[in-house]
Amino acid sequence: MKIAVLPGDGIGPEVAAQAVKVLQALQRDGLKFEMVEAPIGGAGYDAAGDPLPEPTLKLAREADAVLLGAVGGYQYDKLPRPQRPEQGLLRIRKELNLFANLRPVFVYPELADASTLKPEVVSGLDLLIVRELTGDLYFGQPRGIRVNAQGEREGFNTMVYSESEIRRVAHSGFKTAMKRKRRLCSVEKANVLETSELWREVVIEVGRGYPEVELSHMYVDNAAMQLVRNPKQFDVILTGNIFGDILSDEASMLTGSIGMLPSASLDGANKGMYEPIHGSAPDIAGRDIANPLATILSAAMMLRYTFNLEDAAQRVETAVRKVLAQGLRTADIFVPGTDKVSTGRMGDAVVAAL
Ligand code: NAD
Repeated sequence: MKIAVLPGDGIGPEVAAQAVKVLQALQRDGLKFEMVEAPIGGAGYDAAGDPLPEPTLKLAREADAVLLGAVGGYQYDKLPRPQRPEQGLLRIRKELNLFANLRPVFVYPELADASTLKPEVVSGLDLLIVRELTGDLYFGQPRGIRVNAQGEREGFNTMVYSESEIRRVAHSGFKTAMKRKRRLCSVEKANVLETSELWREVVIEVGRGYPEVELSHMYVDNAAMQLVRNPKQFDVILTGNIFGDILSDEASMLTGSIGMLPSASLDGANKGMYEPIHGSAPDIAGRDIANPLATILSAAMMLRYTFNLEDAAQRVETAVRKVLAQGLRTADIFVPGTDKVSTGRMGDAVVAAL
C-alpha cells in the first residue's frame, strides 16, 4: 500500500506528522504501508518554483493514495496566480481526476456543546456529503466578463453536467451509502434548472442498480434549511459542485471545530486524496497547538475507502473518540475542565489509544 505524503505549508507538516505516526503504529500490527514524502503548495514553490512539482505529481500518480496536510501562506499571496500554493491543490485534484469529494460530518458526544446549534439538534449527528468536484459552474464554458449590447458589463458562467459526469458521481454516492445506513438524498434544483432535471433523471437510473439504497430528492434551498432544522434526518447527501461547496461548509459548523473534519476526494477506482478540510492556519503555524484530529481521521478514511480496511479505519476512529472521552483537547476545542494538549501529544495519545 503506497501512500504519497504531501505535508504542504503552515500547520500542514505538523498535523500530517501525527497521521503518519498513527499509520506507523498500525504497521506494528501487520499492515504494510510505504510512505514517501514530497513538497506541494508553497513548499513546492520553494523547492522547485512550482506549487505542484513534476516529481510530486509523478509520486502521487504512482501511489495508491495521497495524504495531504494543507497549503498556503501569506508570503505566497503576491505570486502570479499559477505559482500560488492553492493552484497546486486544484491541479493535483484535476490531474488525478478526483471527481467525488466525501465529507463526513460527525458530532462526537464530548464536543456536542462546541456547536453553535443546540446540543439536542446535533448530538449523535452522523451524515456524509458526496460533492461532485470537477464540473458544474466552476469549470463550465463559456465563462467571463463581457460588454453586452447595451454597453454594460455582464458576468457569465455556465452550469453544465454531462450524463457521464453525473453517472460516475452518483455511483460514488450509492456505493458510499451501501457502506453506511443505505439512505441517499440527492440535492438539486430541478424545479428551475435543466442541469438539475437531468441530474435527477440520471440519479434515478443509477439508483436502479442499488435497490438496497433508499433514494430521496430534495431542492437545495430546502436542504440548506433542513441541515440546520433537523440534520439527523440525513445519511448520505449527493450533490453537485456549487451546491456541495455551500452545503458542506454549512454542515461543518454543525460539529463545532474545523480542526475535526476530514475529507476524501476519490476517482472512479477509489484512488483518493485524503486531507483535513481546514487550511494551513498561518496564524498558529509552528506553535505545536493545531488540532491534528481532522488529518488523523482523514487517514482513517483512506483505510476505509482506498484500502478497504474497515476494521483498521474503525480502530483509528475509536481511538480518537477515546482520547476525547479522556478529556484531551487541543486549544481549538478546549473548554475549562478538560486537559489542554499540544499537537504532538494529541497524536501520541491517539497512538496510545490504538
Ligand atoms: P484556515 O482553515 O487555515 O484557518 C481558519 C481558522 O481556523 C484560523 O483561525 C486557524 O487558526 C483555525 N484552524 C484551522 N485549522 C485548524 C486546526 N487544525 N487546529 C486549530 N485551529 C485551526 O483558513 P484561512 O485562514 O482562510 O486560510 C489560511 C491559508 O490556508 C490560506 O493561504 C488559504 O488559501 C489556505 N487554505 C488551504 C486549504 C487547503 O489546503 N485545503 C483550504 C483552505 C484554505
